[in-house]
Amino acid sequence: MDISLNKIIKGYGNFRKKYLSSQAKTIQHLMYAEQNPDIMIISCCDSRVEPSMIFECDPGDLFTVRNIASIVPPYEKDNLHHGTSAALEFGVKFLNVKNLILIGHSNCGGIRALLNENFEENDFISNWIEVSKDAVLQCKSNSCSLEDCIKLSLNKSYENCMTFPWIKEKVEEGTLFLHRWFFNLQTGTMTAYNPASCKYEDLEIAYAQTGQKHSS
Ligand SMILES: [Zn+2]
Repeated sequence: MDISLNKIIKGYGNFRKKYLSSQAKTIQHLMYAEQNPDIMIISCCDSRVEPSMIFECDPGDLFTVRNIASIVPPYEKDNLHHGTSAALEFGVKFLNVKNLILIGHSNCGGIRALLNENFEENDFISNWIEVSKDAVLQCKSNSCSLEDCIKLSLNKSYENCMTFPWIKEKVEEGTLFLHRWFFNLQTGTMTAYNPASCKYEDLEIAYAQTGQKHSS
């Protein structure tokens, strides 16, 4: 059998042992209760950035959306098909998550494609990543690094989150907290944007310095 397929089928067996054994309580909880996660994550489709693995979470912990370059588009109420916006609506309005975390990562192929004017012709990708184009163009004019571009794209997504009226309302009343995090693939470190210092800092430091558990 294909080695990759074999690997995930073996993993499925381990999952069943962990969560469906007679001692495991997780699956019983999932069967009888509605999902009730406190945390929503938007991260990239990149196969190396897997939130539930990085944060060692169990089923039910994270409501997750993954898309190319972890982009949040602006609020556009029209008849087109908005997958990420629909997930945001479900997570924020119906699941009432308390934290919405946007995770960018180093060497993101989606943002690299935005910087590459010769990116090959495609049906959907260019149109999708164009949401962050302004941020990236601003970067190019100042000859920033790819990491700077990725972080500016995250800022753009953060701003776009606030164009959703029900996100803005909850953030302003203090019932929803927005976070910008950055995962460095080379070092395996996760940092958070600390609005107090205007820098990305180690998770524990970023949250300790603000004297609160959340940043915005
Ligand atoms: Zn990426």
